[in-house]
Amino acid sequence: MTSTALRLSEARTPLAVLESVFGYPAFRGDQRQIIDHVVAGGDALVLMPTGGGKSLCYQIPSLVRGGVGVVVSPLIALMKDQVDALAAVGVRASFLNSTQGPDERREVERALAAGEVDLLYMAPERVTVPATAELLDRLPVSLFAIDEAHCVSQWGHDFRPDYLALSMLHERWPSVPRIALTATATAATAAEIRQRLQLQQARTFVASFDRPNIQYRIEPKNQPVQQLLQLIRTEHPGDAGIVYCLSRASVEKTAAALAEHGIPALPYHAGLDARTRADHQSRFLREDGVVMVATIAFGMGIDKPDVRFVAHLDLPKSVEGYYQETGRAGRDGLPSTAWLAYGLQDVVQLRQMIDRSEGDATYKRRMSQHLDAMLALCETVECRRVQLLAYFGQQSAPCGNCDTCLAPPESFDGTIPAQKLLSTIVRLERERRQRYGAGQLIDILLGKRTPRVEQLGHADLATFGIGAELGEQEWRGVVRQLLAQGLLAVHGDGYGTLVITEASAEVLTGGRIVRLRREVARPTRSARRSAPADLPAAAGPLFERLRAWRGATARALGAPAYIVFGDATLRGIALTTPTTLDELGQISGVGAKKLEQFGGAVLAIVRGEEPPAAVAGDDAPADHEPALVPAYDVPPDDEFDPPPPDDRY
Ligand code: ADP
Ligand code: ZN
Repeated sequence: MTSTALRLSEARTPLAVLESVFGYPAFRGDQRQIIDHVVAGGDALVLMPTGGGKSLCYQIPSLVRGGVGVVVSPLIALMKDQVDALAAVGVRASFLNSTQGPDERREVERALAAGEVDLLYMAPERVTVPATAELLDRLPVSLFAIDEAHCVSQWGHDFRPDYLALSMLHERWPSVPRIALTATATAATAAEIRQRLQLQQARTFVASFDRPNIQYRIEPKNQPVQQLLQLIRTEHPGDAGIVYCLSRASVEKTAAALAEHGIPALPYHAGLDARTRADHQSRFLREDGVVMVATIAFGMGIDKPDVRFVAHLDLPKSVEGYYQETGRAGRDGLPSTAWLAYGLQDVVQLRQMIDRSEGDATYKRRMSQHLDAMLALCETVECRRVQLLAYFGQQSAPCGNCDTCLAPPESFDGTIPAQKLLSTIVRLERERRQRYGAGQLIDILLGKRTPRVEQLGHADLATFGIGAELGEQEWRGVVRQLLAQGLLAVHGDGYGTLVITEASAEVLTGGRIVRLRREVARPTRSARRSAPADLPAAAGPLFERLRAWRGATARALGAPAYIVFGDATLRGIALTTPTTLDELGQISGVGAKKLEQFGGAVLAIVRGEEPPAAVAGDDAPADHEPALVPAYDVPPDDEFDPPPPDDRY
């Protein structure tokens, strides 16, 4: 028995496991209550934001209760990393999935029978086949953890039909506690999880959905790639980040543009072949400072804690989507940026997508409501965080860490520009039976004699040239804000032409004042290296040396850098400069196993010596080649038909 395993068997209280295995001094938020409840055999439904610390809520009860904790996790591509991360702290974890050959699978089954496995990861489609159920019948199962539980919800974009069958857990193993976890905050999704997983009796724990370390910023889109480059160069040089785009084509284009400017950017979307996707994902996880440019196909279940920024170059379709995607920044709690650039074209495009979609009227209405809520968040003059949390039913005060708090936008009386624009639309419609998109309308208002204006005779309109007080960008801002306020609409003709709404009439007759926000210069944080911003200058060089050692060690182990130590832990070491193993063990994130494995090297670096060369230990995987794995699991018997991987995975 290794010394770590020995410590583990002695450390049977939740707090002792937290300290000795994970190296953390205290529980966060509701972790303690959740863990106590599950340890006592209760069922739980946990709603907690990304980075909140959900994993410990089932890992610790499983270690404390003894036996095998069965973790249902949707993406087999990520199981290996989850298991590696546990192995790195000395927890005996395994998975069963179709990437394994029969020998490997038999070995896991043997280890299970011998009581050598603390946590077992499986995809939902595997748990529910008879062979697996019979295997589990023979084991002391400590609990079932259902991760990403919102996958049971048919309304979310992560719906996985296999999750529906998980209600059988309760029927077959009524005495085994179940804990379902999700970062989705809406009450409707929670109700659906409760009902579909038969968790009506479960205690529900709702954490605050605030992510205080994330700075939310939304700005008008002018030259998106230039704006993005500016963000990366001035605030996030050398940092890992995710850039979301709506289409595969814009993913490719943006990744290429960033790469041209020397930023290590990789594309990720469902149109790439599986090997390329696996390779890019693996590089993003393993290498420092890679920027992933992706569609929303990328991100679920990615546990990388040091993603320093999430940028959106297109408008997300809903506030839920925006929150989930931005939430992938800063899981380690260090300062991070959520930045969105959006423009008029986004609104038009999303409205058209809704109109053209195949759903029925109810579906379209729902999608429209989602878009309206997203637009309201974009155009608000109040704190973004207050509005975001209010959307999830949580009250808060202005945060001081979003663009509207840092540089409160001015609003101005935009009634006259609005009237000029609306009356141009009305005249074209009444006098000429014509409808146009924003570009032509703005040309008319600005009095531009373009070939199209000449050809259509638009210079003869009474409103030709009456809008010279604003520039083209400002006019686009007016159109965008009128759309967001419901004072303009996109016609369903599929050409993105603009029409007035019922509410516009009031503006035209002077019965309604239109407030618009003036676009102001956006605040930026000062340039910095990837060392956490608040690290004193004196600690910087040590942090960088620790970081270099971590990179080399991770490469030798074939593991992501954060599996060695997170940024927050390196920061703690750089600040406290421990001289003994005992002192090092006090730092958050340094548990018994890591102290044993890396303690000597870290102390040597702190003393200013060259650390011993990193060598791959017993735990090291045989190679670093990204495994080519299907998104869904394929159990041995042919009892079901897995749906093909699609855009979501
Ligand atoms: P989630 O699954 O909710 O997104 P994780 O379980 O991945 O979050 O935890 C996010 C990060 O916070 C991880 O790096 C984890 O090790 C760390 N963490 C979790 N609980 C604690 C704690 N009590 N003290 C310090 N760090 C913690
Ligand atoms: Zn704010």
